[in-house]
Amino acid sequence: MKDRIEQIQKRISAAAEKAGRSPDEIRLVAVSKAKPGASVQMALDAGLDLFGENYIQEAREKVNALSASGAQWHFIGHLQSNKAKYAVKLFDLIHSVDSLKLARELNKQAARIDKVQPVLVQVNISAETTKSGTSREEAVDLATAISDLPNLSLQGLMTMPPFFDDPDRARPYFHELRQLRDHIRSLAIPGVTMDELSMGMTGDFEAAISEGATLVRIGTAIFGERS
Ligand SMILES: *Cc1c(COP(=O)(O)O)cnc(C)c1O
Repeated sequence: MKDRIEQIQKRISAAAEKAGRSPDEIRLVAVSKAKPGASVQMALDAGLDLFGENYIQEAREKVNALSASGAQWHFIGHLQSNKAKYAVKLFDLIHSVDSLKLARELNKQAARIDKVQPVLVQVNISAETTKSGTSREEAVDLATAISDLPNLSLQGLMTMPPFFDDPDRARPYFHELRQLRDHIRSLAIPGVTMDELSMGMTGDFEAAISEGATLVRIGTAIFGERS
């Protein structure tokens, strides 16, 4: 696993340099969904400290078992409002806020534990009906609404483009997310920073970096195929 991680880190650095960016601007979120705590421990031993999970129940077990590790955890899956109370306890960043209902519930639950919860808005740039996320138009309204919620801190946008064999075909979607991010940033909504762009997975992270990704979510290339 150490070799794989080194390979990925090299590819991230190379993609950043090619795009005229500093590799320090890009954080690797190691997506450990469907992998046991022992795999996360190996990744920790190899020097990683940021993990992404899609399911609350599964994440709870790993976060609790590895609480002494100092690892950070991000939630990247679809979140139901009735799980918000667990999500605010477990995660340093929630990438997948896609409705005002969910945002309000996260705000309420974060307030109960005296936390200001960092979040991203997930945007369905491709408008595929199978994917969650707001439309581009709704994203602006949702960002404005979140700025009024005192226990949420909106830090950027996340997307998942359609799957293509050729990662260059995902680039227009990454480009659009960046433009939308820049647009929302230009509105200077109070309390909204919009520095983060969560985009790029095993098959397309280099294309995402060239379009401005600050968080790449990589599972398979680190942990192997999921069964
Ligand atoms: C599973 C998942 C990933 C990681 O995908 P890989 O192709 O294994 O790198 C990234 N983002 C989200 C939202 C995921 O669900």
